[in-house]
Amino acid sequence: MHYALPLWEAPSIAIANSESRFPIHRIYCVGRNYAEHAREMGADPEREPPFFFCKPPDAVVTSGSRIPYPLATQNLHHEVELVVALQSGGVHIEPEAALDLVFGYAVGVDLTRRDLQQALREKGRPWDVGKAFDRAAPIGALMPALAGGHPSKSAIGLKVNGEVKQNGDVSDMIWNVPHIIAHLSELFELKAGDLIFTGTPAGVGPIQPGDLIEASITGLPALHFTVV
Ligand code: MN
Repeated sequence: MHYALPLWEAPSIAIANSESRFPIHRIYCVGRNYAEHAREMGADPEREPPFFFCKPPDAVVTSGSRIPYPLATQNLHHEVELVVALQSGGVHIEPEAALDLVFGYAVGVDLTRRDLQQALREKGRPWDVGKAFDRAAPIGALMPALAGGHPSKSAIGLKVNGEVKQNGDVSDMIWNVPHIIAHLSELFELKAGDLIFTGTPAGVGPIQPGDLIEASITGLPALHFTVV
């Protein structure tokens, strides 16, 4: 095969205790999946079906990175999230079979240009500009489910310059991982290499240039980065 441009590398993330890397196919994200966060965003967290948006695979940034403050925003926000990595896919996946698709889990931050997202939301426009920008998906190393299991009750938290801003528990998700996979597989054919951000607990807030962000979920490799 000959390409008209030099072919770029597939975006990928590290795997804990392994030389191998996990190649990224697509990045799906769930909106408002913790009741308290839905309320802080001015929404009603009644059990509606989950809704989804996407980030491009090359938005991934590895732990330890220095991230330039993004273009076109005055209100960059952090959202710490459990990220699910799929090793296989399909359509019409039953919740009971969904965990068989999971390769492992990582800590991610759904970086959000909140000012742009809110302006788009008020006008009923797509969220892409608020969510799917360059370097909008910092992710830590993956912990394979074979080694670490499936997190069901695990503390999830985020600090800015050492100060706790978000802390919750993944058991507080409105839609758990099997149900997220089941719903998503009714909308898209899931594939090996897909990542799913599963929503953020309450306490989202602004990041200033110079801030150190530390994100954690019990049992998973920690994620940190600096915005410069
Ligand atoms: Mn989010």
